[in-house]
Amino acid sequence: MSRVFFRNAMVWDGSGANPFPADVLVEGNRIRTVARSTGQLSADGATVIDCQGKTLMPGLVEGHAHLSYGGAVNDSDLGNIPPEEHVLLTMRNAKTLLDHGFTSAFSAASSKLRLDVVIRNEVEAGRLPGPRIRACSPEITVTGGLGDERKQHMYYESFGMIADGPDEIARTVRLCCREGVDNIKINISGDDLGPKAHGGMTVMRENEVQTAVSVARDFGKVVACHSRSAESVKRAVRCGVDVIYHCESSDEEALDMLESVKDRIFVGPAIGVIYGTLYDGEPWFSREFAIHIGMQRVIDDSHKVYSELRKRGVRALIGGDYGFVQSPQGTNARDLKHFVDLLGYSSSEALQCGTRIGGQVMGMGHELGQVKEGFLADLLLVNGDPLKDLSIMVPEESFLVIMKDGALYKNIAQTRAQERAAE
Ligand SMILES: [Zn+2]
Repeated sequence: MSRVFFRNAMVWDGSGANPFPADVLVEGNRIRTVARSTGQLSADGATVIDCQGKTLMPGLVEGHAHLSYGGAVNDSDLGNIPPEEHVLLTMRNAKTLLDHGFTSAFSAASSKLRLDVVIRNEVEAGRLPGPRIRACSPEITVTGGLGDERKQHMYYESFGMIADGPDEIARTVRLCCREGVDNIKINISGDDLGPKAHGGMTVMRENEVQTAVSVARDFGKVVACHSRSAESVKRAVRCGVDVIYHCESSDEEALDMLESVKDRIFVGPAIGVIYGTLYDGEPWFSREFAIHIGMQRVIDDSHKVYSELRKRGVRALIGGDYGFVQSPQGTNARDLKHFVDLLGYSSSEALQCGTRIGGQVMGMGHELGQVKEGFLADLLLVNGDPLKDLSIMVPEESFLVIMKDGALYKNIAQTRAQERAAE
């Protein structure tokens, strides 16, 4: 069994506790020992990594991943990519995420039915580098909703799957389950970045949402939804959706409903693309245009709603729709700082959203997302103190070590191979 010994680390364990000095021993794919008094642990036969007091923390979990999105300006661009190029693009994005410290990705939609599924399978088989992936369906939407990019006068492949009425919804969800997804994504509200139904509209009916959830349950799948309007949030809670994205227009009643199911659900603001449209949109989107379509309002509303959700203990996920031209893949960890600057979280809370809570949404909260004895060894050695400066979590150069499932994917720290005796 392989053994890796992290000597003299400053461990931030993901629980919310303050960092502490420790030696950490990994055996196989699990964290065997976290020894708070350094120098006590035997490194016999282990590869020894000298952490020099740098931060050792859990691998990041992208909570709103779109592995098959790559530099799209408009949603319709996603339907234009031929399948062959699209597989390669998704493969590259999986590697990009792992290069940037994301050892897990909870997908919030694929743009073709089997893209997430095949890349997940290849990564799991050890044939491609990438994070642990929970594969998602394409966005399932109603005619005229976000994800319906079809045109009346021509054949056009949309990135969403369009289904109207409970019967079509049931068939579409079953099809996605048959093809091997882990998550089902439904668009209950519209979106201001889309041309048709805007964010204030609730376009998927209650019986359609209910059907999607109950069919997904038949197959043991998790359901995530796009919900900007207050009514769409309430509809999601009433129907038992597991992960409710956006939520920024929640009113008092919606907040109460979210709080009432806080042990069961997750929320995610997906703020990165909104920030990107406002501040990094040139030359594709002018600032005037971004403000005109309500991006500043979304940030202001998100601040109000997420300050409240944070206080009420509703679990939030990082992940901001990275994969558009204004929110490129690889910059996903910008969301950590956005949580602090835009939404009122502390650095530690933001990092917990990106680690421990991420492990929970992956369905692996008992073994993923913390530096804890018995947990899976997904670890990062960071050159700097993320609690003091979250922006260091973005560039890949910040990661001296990236370990996934006990394997050293990257190691540019000082290493001594196969140390023989305890020193
Ligand atoms: Zn999204």
